[in-house]
Amino acid sequence: MLIDLHSHSTASDGQLTPQELIIRADNRQVSILALTDHDTTDGLGAAHQTITELDLKIKLIDGIEITTNWLNHEIHVLGVNIDVQHAGLVDLILLQKEKREIRALEMGRRLEKANIDGVYEGAKALAGEGAITRAHFARYLVEQGVAPTFAKVFDKYLSRGNIGYVPHNWIDMHLAIQVIHNAGGQAILAHPDNYKLSNKWMRRLFTEFKDADGDAMEVARGQQSLQIRLQLAMWSKEYELLASQGSDFHFIGRWRDLGKGLHLPDIATPIWKDWAIFNALKEK
Ligand code: AMP
Ligand code: MN
Ligand code: MN
Ligand code: MN
Repeated sequence: MLIDLHSHSTASDGQLTPQELIIRADNRQVSILALTDHDTTDGLGAAHQTITELDLKIKLIDGIEITTNWLNHEIHVLGVNIDVQHAGLVDLILLQKEKREIRALEMGRRLEKANIDGVYEGAKALAGEGAITRAHFARYLVEQGVAPTFAKVFDKYLSRGNIGYVPHNWIDMHLAIQVIHNAGGQAILAHPDNYKLSNKWMRRLFTEFKDADGDAMEVARGQQSLQIRLQLAMWSKEYELLASQGSDFHFIGRWRDLGKGLHLPDIATPIWKDWAIFNALKEK
């Protein structure tokens, strides 16, 4: 059974609409998909509607990926099985939206000082109604020929220490976990291997995430060495966190796709093991 609990649509920085995303996941035989856009749940309505209208088999989990602050590190926390109407969650999303907008304007100003004009407007046009992210800035800058690739544009303009980088002030990681819980969901520490933390700091993060009542951590990602996957699985055991898996799909690429290359090492305990949706599918 293919399970993918991390994906993005045009509601944030993904390149497929929620409808296209759902159809692609269903075609690829994904049984359970979580849509987890950055700081928004706006894509979920259209995604559910697509399933109903086309009478698809796929099960959709309501999710979000919240950008948070932990000791001045930008840490992503996934919420799954959330009640999207929960007032506390709705408030958090509004706050994050405002933070994104303010940051985007400031990024535009900083890049203008470096004589790169019109970047805010360009990124905003790419984001449309969706949450504006650095990925939109990156796409625009690549389209304008300012840098040849996504990676280069981040390296040169958008990551910490570069001209277009604005120090973040995201909501606190503990608060994000609390809000996810209040909205009835489970909190997953996203891609721990992505933060460039030393093992010592990684352990500190696991300890605090667990102490903050976090439920799970991502163990299996699309592209990842077996060694790292096993290490993460062992850490999930050691810190008594459940294990999750997700492609972090943003667009169709040569090596990346929905549900691709995902499975948990046997020692890990899957976050979905007690989910009614999963057990019903298993019994079929
Ligand atoms: P934001 O949450 O607005 O800071 O945007 C971060 C998003 O930009 C991430 O979710 C990724 O999709 C993308 N991103 C961040 N760093 C890189 C990178 N080095 N190369 C390509 N994409 C990146
Ligand atoms: Mn992204
Ligand atoms: Mn992330
Ligand atoms: Mn993501």
